[in-house]
Amino acid sequence: MPTEDAVVVIEDDAHIADLVAMYLRKDGFRVVVAGDGESGLAAVERVRPVLAVVDIGLPGDLDGLDVCRKLVSGGRVAVILLTARDDEIDRILGLELGADDYVTKPFSPRELVARARAVLRRAGRAAPPDEPAAAVTTLGDIEVDTRRREVRHHGDVVPLTTREFDLLAYLVANTGLALSRRQLLDGVWGADWYGDERTVDVHVRQLRKKLGDALPLATVWGVGYRLG
Ligand code: CA
Repeated sequence: MPTEDAVVVIEDDAHIADLVAMYLRKDGFRVVVAGDGESGLAAVERVRPVLAVVDIGLPGDLDGLDVCRKLVSGGRVAVILLTARDDEIDRILGLELGADDYVTKPFSPRELVARARAVLRRAGRAAPPDEPAAAVTTLGDIEVDTRRREVRHHGDVVPLTTREFDLLAYLVANTGLALSRRQLLDGVWGADWYGDERTVDVHVRQLRKKLGDALPLATVWGVGYRLG
């Protein structure tokens, strides 16, 4: 089913860019390719895509991290980063860029398209119009508001990335249960997620860093995590 949704692919490797563009087009997206950060940002301005696929290693003054930062702060566009090495992901997450997903090269274009679909599905259900009003859960000093997608600590909003929030909301929905990393991956990232279970640990680490001791999240040895 073709859609009108546009994707801007910002990648200087023409072979990868073409391949990604081809698969996205086959999946019904309108695709615009840019070879560097500046023209990529200009394309996003012009095309107003639902998604930007951004390679981290870009030539010119703006690398992929700069581009991601600008796109995320501008809001309204989902971002998938292409990374050259798996160990870059920790570093990227440490920078709290707020990208929606990460794909490590080499990747299959099919996988990227699946990720793109998953990111857009999540973005679409981020604020369902008919969600009930009673959506605030209190965990000690923390309030998790799933309707406004907001986490407050002593009343102050704690900035979380989309995925960090989804993970916390999932834990909240399953308070008191020990959840395996696999369960968390399936529940938060979706069954079409191809990453490994370490991804969960990385995001938990971010949540703990941002919420500190206020977060009553226990590591259940040999299993995963339990909230409350
Ligand atoms: Ca590159």
